[in-house]
Amino acid sequence: MKFSYRELRKKLDSGETSCREVVSSYLNKINERKHLNVFLSVFNEEALKKADEIDYKIKSGYAGRLAGMVISIKDVLSLKGKKMTCASKMLENFEAVYTATAVQRLIDEDVIIIGKTNCDEFAMGSSNENSAFGAVLNPADESRVAGGSSGGSAAAVAAEMCMISLGTDTGGSIRQPAAFCGVIGLKPTYGRVSRYGLTAFASSFDTIGPLGKDIYDIALVLEIMSGYDPRDSTSVSDVTDFKAEDIENIDLNNLRIGVVKEYLGEGLQPEIRDKIKEVIERLRDSGLIIKEVSLPYLKYSIQTYYILTTAEASSNLARYDGARYGYRSPDSGDVETMYINSRSEGFGEEVKRRIMLGTYVLSAGYYDAYYRKAQKVRRLIKNDFIKAFEEVDLLLTPSTPTTAFRIGEKTTDPLEMYLNDIFTTSANLAGNPAISIPVGWDKEKLPIGIQLTARDFDEKTALAAADYILRSEFT
Ligand code: GLN
Repeated sequence: MKFSYRELRKKLDSGETSCREVVSSYLNKINERKHLNVFLSVFNEEALKKADEIDYKIKSGYAGRLAGMVISIKDVLSLKGKKMTCASKMLENFEAVYTATAVQRLIDEDVIIIGKTNCDEFAMGSSNENSAFGAVLNPADESRVAGGSSGGSAAAVAAEMCMISLGTDTGGSIRQPAAFCGVIGLKPTYGRVSRYGLTAFASSFDTIGPLGKDIYDIALVLEIMSGYDPRDSTSVSDVTDFKAEDIENIDLNNLRIGVVKEYLGEGLQPEIRDKIKEVIERLRDSGLIIKEVSLPYLKYSIQTYYILTTAEASSNLARYDGARYGYRSPDSGDVETMYINSRSEGFGEEVKRRIMLGTYVLSAGYYDAYYRKAQKVRRLIKNDFIKAFEEVDLLLTPSTPTTAFRIGEKTTDPLEMYLNDIFTTSANLAGNPAISIPVGWDKEKLPIGIQLTARDFDEKTALAAADYILRSEFT
């Protein structure tokens, strides 16, 4: 199913195909490549039943704006009555009691949800190897990781198991797997999409966004998910300005693209650097203005990110105590033992590492040295972006330092793994929207992604430029 939603919708409206046919074909793909370990649950019967309902709605002429779009959602998003494991043993048998706002808004426009995708445990990771249910294999090369934490979402789109997948991005978890799997992934501005129903990892960083293959599909899904939600006090009310069709009317002439000096240095895979240079040259040839910009504090992004997100995670994950819901150790003699054993047995290594790190940076003696200082650096990073966007409209950077690495290659060295997030965490620290798009392959035929970062709430410029790049013969 290579076409975009707009093309599909024409075929559905004209009766050339049906939602049932579309769903069946995706279900076949899911079955054929089960070994990729992309889904944690698949809604076979239900998706087909929903397809029939929507086929009827289409015939009757009152179908929603996303009728027949088949999507999957990352298993950290709530869907009422369905399991939500967060890829953790802690929530292996947990059933969601309500539906996330972002998901509900798509359901209201008649999407069909085909299943829930695998990810790193509680969205902590860059390779999907931290899932309690095993890694996702990269559809482009099965010996490699799909990226993380939304590895299942990226692989689902790449392997044509659905049209769109909803992922979450706290430090790159949409963009990095999108780059590794060769699809588009958008992290919206913090506050544009309600976080209600997204299992909290680091609340001041967490965002929900789409992965897909077509820019307009991504824009449409974003438009529908966006907007104020009284259930998320950080959701912003004046974002209704965003309309998917706007991206087609943006004049890219004289658009100023900033190339971040600090990001093209050491540690970047040469083929990614070459690709960026090629894209830059071609944009310059097409009349866009290319400027070199400097964001000096970006070099502290990883440290700052891993101090602040672990601090928030240590607090957010305190709720999994074996008492109210989730895993409870069979060895729970008294309350204290129940807490200790349930958490020790229920959480995986990486989640425990982060809870301990977060507890440490928040502890009385170290709070000023780490947490408070990191908050200050976060502000300096935001200021870097504000300053850069006085000179340019978009920043063009790599999405990842390398293409997809081999399964097992980095599991013994957490710091190596964290370094993968070098280009993505800054947008979460600053809150800005950023998109990763596929622009070609390295010599091993692994996808290369580049990232465009925009001003707050200016997703449309990033999407329009991304569309332009994708339509030009870059790949
Ligand atoms: N890889 C990053 C981390 O491990 C990002 C995770 C995310 O965005 N959810 O924290």
